[in-house]
Amino acid sequence: MLRSKRAKVELGDGAPLKRRITLHFPREAVHEPITYRLAVEFDVAAKILRAQIAPNQSGTMVVELSGDIDDLAAAEQWLGAQGLGLNLTPGQITVNPDLCVDCGICSSLCPSGALASQAPTWQLHFDAQRCLVCEQCIPSCPLGAIALELKGP
Ligand code: SF4
Ligand code: SF4
Repeated sequence: MLRSKRAKVELGDGAPLKRRITLHFPREAVHEPITYRLAVEFDVAAKILRAQIAPNQSGTMVVELSGDIDDLAAAEQWLGAQGLGLNLTPGQITVNPDLCVDCGICSSLCPSGALASQAPTWQLHFDAQRCLVCEQCIPSCPLGAIALELKGP
């Protein structure tokens, strides 16, 4: 059943909120048009950051959701009710300044701008507030300077 659309009240600068989630698909849900349903039924845009889903097998997908706070909450509740194994951010990214040589490889592929090489020094800057914890930067660093620090139990 489609959720009725309603007028939006923009808060602050009106920019949509973003959340990064990891979905674990059981085999029977692999063919569900999840991103389409999020857009049509919840007005939430879903950008797939990473996916490992083989046909007729269970899989994992890291998704960046954007929308207003109520729509995001409703979408996350719906995803959880679909049995998709919704996980919010598992931890935080850390950059070891003793290993980093400011080569800029990681910042060139960071989808959120959390890793940025800034002029005039081109020193790497990491903004944890912007990080989606998509983990794409971890294997990109040739020196192993980036790691995921898992949350405690
Ligand atoms: S995990 Fe790495 S690549 Fe992904 S948003 Fe955070 S800093 Fe950028
Ligand atoms: S890829 Fe590694 S060494 Fe290069 S800027 Fe990023 S963290 Fe530093």
